[in-house]
Amino acid sequence: MQIAENLVALIHYKLKDEQGNLLDSSEGQEPLPFLCGAHNIVEGLEKALIGKTVGDKLDVVVKPEEGYGEIRAELVQKVARENFQGIDDIEVGMQFMAEAPWGQQPVTVTAVEDDGVMLDGNHPLAGQTLQFSVEVTEVREATDDEIAHGHVHGEGCDHDH
Ligand code: ZN
Repeated sequence: MQIAENLVALIHYKLKDEQGNLLDSSEGQEPLPFLCGAHNIVEGLEKALIGKTVGDKLDVVVKPEEGYGEIRAELVQKVARENFQGIDDIEVGMQFMAEAPWGQQPVTVTAVEDDGVMLDGNHPLAGQTLQFSVEVTEVREATDDEIAHGHVHGEGCDHDH
């Protein structure tokens, strides 16, 4: 069976940045499942996997526009300290959910200054060219529920989304 839209595929993967630093890996863990066509994984990787089958190994370079997007300056904002009522220590690297016009947006504190807190709503991998090495370990039919929900069911599936 070849990977195609509305099929479930499982992959082992290694993800490196442009400089070759390892960012993430499924090594020592269960392979990553995704429902093809449901935007479970970045577009560039999904495109490269279509038509592949169990045992296929491939290296895929994904540019930001088919990965986590370009860095968007408008997602970096300085917010007054008063907006963090009840939080005594705000430190660089802390993450919060912020209300954005399009819904909840995860943001990361990038600086704490006298006149406010710098928040960055860009994905940590925005603007980066990603290098994936993947191996397909399973391809199967999706259930009707999986297609309706747009994600793979199984261990670790949570139904909040
Ligand atoms: Zn579900």
